[in-house]
Amino acid sequence: MSCWFCSVREAEDDHALKIEMYGDIDTRRSPSQTQVAYNVRHIDVPRCADCHSRHQIVSLATIVAAALTVILIAAVLCAVFEWVSPWIWAIAAGLSFGLVLGMLAVRFVAHKSIFSVRQAKANFPEIRGLLEKNYRFGRQPKGSPPESSQPNDVSNENQPPAP
Ligand SMILES: [Zn+2]
Repeated sequence: MSCWFCSVREAEDDHALKIEMYGDIDTRRSPSQTQVAYNVRHIDVPRCADCHSRHQIVSLATIVAAALTVILIAAVLCAVFEWVSPWIWAIAAGLSFGLVLGMLAVRFVAHKSIFSVRQAKANFPEIRGLLEKNYRFGRQPKGSPPESSQPNDVSNENQPPAP
């Protein structure tokens, strides 16, 4: 099977993009307990080693760019409120701004001619089919299960999927 992201190279199992989605949530209430059942689906998007490492570079660049943006905002605040000498915030702002642009360039180059993980989450046929069935990303519903009408509701049981 060829890689879904570049459709050029052969996909390798070790490098597949693993996505988990849950859905078909079914809540049953009885006086003593609320049972929440749902299905978890494991989806493997075929991916080659090269696309895998490109995606890793992209996520690293995203994290670094976010951190640099925080520094940039701090430098701008320092400038506005005149907390530090102008040359300090000027250097910080210039460096962080330049590096943010650099990280965005890295992202752009790494994504060149391949699909991104975000595109896979929107367009991979199996994922799209599940999204249409109101499945969500993750392995379990977030937050507490639907509230029971009974005050002494002690146990919530999550049933693993029955394929
Ligand atoms: Zn690939």
